Amino acid sequence: MKEFREARASEMTTMRCGGTIARLYEPDTKEQLAELLGLLDSFIVLGGGSNMIFGDEPLETPVIRLGKGFGGIERQEGVLAVGASVSTAALLGYCLRNALTGLEFLTGIPGTLGGALWMNAGTVDRGVMDTVLAVECLDREGTHTLARKEVPYRYRWGGFPEGMVITGARLDVHPSTPEEVRARVEAFAEKRRSQPRGHSAGSVFRNPPGSPAGYLIDQAGLKGFRIGGAKVSEVHANFIINDGDATSADVKALIQAVKARVKDQFGIELMEEVRIVD
Ligand SMILES: Cc1cc2nc3c(=O)[nH]c(=O)nc-3n(C[C@H](O)[C@H](O)[C@H](O)COP(=O)(O)OP(=O)(O)OC[C@H]3O[C@@H](n4cnc5c(N)ncnc54)[C@H](O)[C@@H]3O)c2cc1C
Repeated sequence: MKEFREARASEMTTMRCGGTIARLYEPDTKEQLAELLGLLDSFIVLGGGSNMIFGDEPLETPVIRLGKGFGGIERQEGVLAVGASVSTAALLGYCLRNALTGLEFLTGIPGTLGGALWMNAGTVDRGVMDTVLAVECLDREGTHTLARKEVPYRYRWGGFPEGMVITGARLDVHPSTPEEVRARVEAFAEKRRSQPRGHSAGSVFRNPPGSPAGYLIDQAGLKGFRIGGAKVSEVHANFIINDGDATSADVKALIQAVKARVKDQFGIELMEEVRIVD
């Protein structure tokens, strides 16, 4: 198992801000992970860091990031068994090479399968949990295999309890042709071409019932509004962009300012989709 001291959060997150992480562990086997969980009082799991914002102050809570040992993709009797540290890009690449359909909606969503399952990442009408047959997890009590119906997932929420580490999943994919899979991937990629460029954590807020968060922020006149190096994207108001030198404090202050303005103007309490770790 690899262990890093004083790792930089800015190098492990797509928002590219935050201070140091005192201890970062990278287990490569379930045995190593189980042993680690037995030793730690508390911990934070990090996937690809595309939905997380770490504070500027040094983080003392240990962070676990699954290593390459959790990076396998295997076809087992028509089902795809995938390790939690597999990136969504690698997973889609595998599906493209093997002409498997069902996961194309993950096109352009960064991060790992573990993070995607935890967040139930996806599009407005489809999340990755919809494609799950079973999820493999590990906590202090041992390993668990959870069938999809045992997990109370919903929009942008995987439904897994705190303290559980997702180690992999069996996903429901179907044989297709390379041309069809490629065409679907291209169609999803096309929709994303209008997405903001730059360092971000994707959508900052969950969509409240009724109106998309981006629409409310736009209507509140906040496109382009900035605090320090963090600004509300002019392209999509639900994205906060790190212009290059944003601190985590800038991003968090901007999040609070946006929430306050939207609450003031529309009476709607926006809820963060991004996870803020202090
Ligand atoms: C440009 C951009 C576009 C995006 N577009 C979308 C989109 O269209 N749809 C969408 O849903 N999201 C989108 N996102 C957000 C993000 O990519 C997804 O939420 C992604 O699935 C997070 O995966 P990750 O591996 O980066 O997780 P992280 O950000 O590392 O972690 C996210 C959460 O999952 C937990 N976690 C991670 N791995 C594990 C594990 N193995 N076991 C237990 N818990 C774990 C973390 O503790 C954290 O709470 C976008 C982000 C960016 C930067």
